[in-house]
Amino acid sequence: MRSILLPLLALPALAAPALAEEIGECRFNRETLTFAGTPLEQATCLLRKIELKGVRKPQPLPPVIVRLMSDGGAPNAEMKARAIQAFPEPYRTYARTYADAPISQTQEGLPALYFVIHDTSTPFYQHDPFPRRLNQDWKVNDFKPYMDGTFAREPVAHIFLNRVGQIWAGHDFQVGWRATKLESRVVGPRARGRFVHIETVQPRRFLPGATSRGETHGPKPGFTREQYRMLAALYVYASARAGRWLIPAQHNTVDSTIPQAHDDPQNFDLKAFGKELEKLVGKPKR
Ligand SMILES: [Zn+2]
Repeated sequence: MRSILLPLLALPALAAPALAEEIGECRFNRETLTFAGTPLEQATCLLRKIELKGVRKPQPLPPVIVRLMSDGGAPNAEMKARAIQAFPEPYRTYARTYADAPISQTQEGLPALYFVIHDTSTPFYQHDPFPRRLNQDWKVNDFKPYMDGTFAREPVAHIFLNRVGQIWAGHDFQVGWRATKLESRVVGPRARGRFVHIETVQPRRFLPGATSRGETHGPKPGFTREQYRMLAALYVYASARAGRWLIPAQHNTVDSTIPQAHDDPQNFDLKAFGKELEKLVGKPKR
C-alpha cells in the first residue's frame, strides 16, 4: 500500500479501516482472526475448487455443508460416537482418550474455528511416473518421513491421513499449531490455535517440462474413498470437541494471494467429502 500524507484531522476516521485490514480473497481480518461473512459465505470462499498451479474456481457446496454452516450448533453425542467408531486403531483409542478435552484456542482465548484440509504433496516423484499400485504403495503410505524430522523438526500438522485411511496424530487438536503462511508469516503467533490442520497423503510429480515445485500435479483421483471417510470423521470429531461446526477450509484458499502459497489440496472432490459427511450426520431434510 502506498503511503500518503493526510491532514491530522482525518486520522481518527482512518484508524478503523487500518485495523480492519483484510488478507486474501476470503478477506481474513487480522484483528478478529476471522474470514469475512457468515459461516456459509466463508465456507463457500474457502472450499472453492483448487486447480493446477493454484487456480481457484467457485463450486457449489454439498447440501450437508450448507445445512451445517447455516443452522450452526455442534455435532451431537451420537454423531461424535459414530465418528470415533469410524476411526481405525490405534487412532480410535487415541481419539477416545482426548474425546472430552476441548481443542485449541488462541492466546487471546479465541476458539478454534477452521478445519484446514491439505495434501502432503509427498512423496515427490519429479519426472518419474507414480507407482502403479499407488494406494497400496508402502512408500506413499509410510508415515515415517512425517515423524522423523525429514520435513521439519516437529510434525507439520495435527493429523496425517494416508491412502488406506490410517491416521497418525502429529499433535492432538488441543495443541495450537500452524501450517499456513497466513498463520506463520502474515499474522504470527496470535493466529495459533484458530486453525486445525489435516495432511492428507497425495504424491506429486512435475507437470510436463516443469522445474519448480509450484508446477506439479497429483494423481487422479486425488484421494481414496478411505481418505474421504476419515476426513469426514475427523471433521465431525474435531467439531464435537470444539463445541461447534468448524468451518471447512483448504490450505490454498486460506493462503490465497500470499506469495508462494501452496497449491494444495489438489483434486479434492468436495462432493465425495459431503457424501461421507452425510453418512455421519444425516441427509439434509427437504
Ligand atoms: Zn498444505
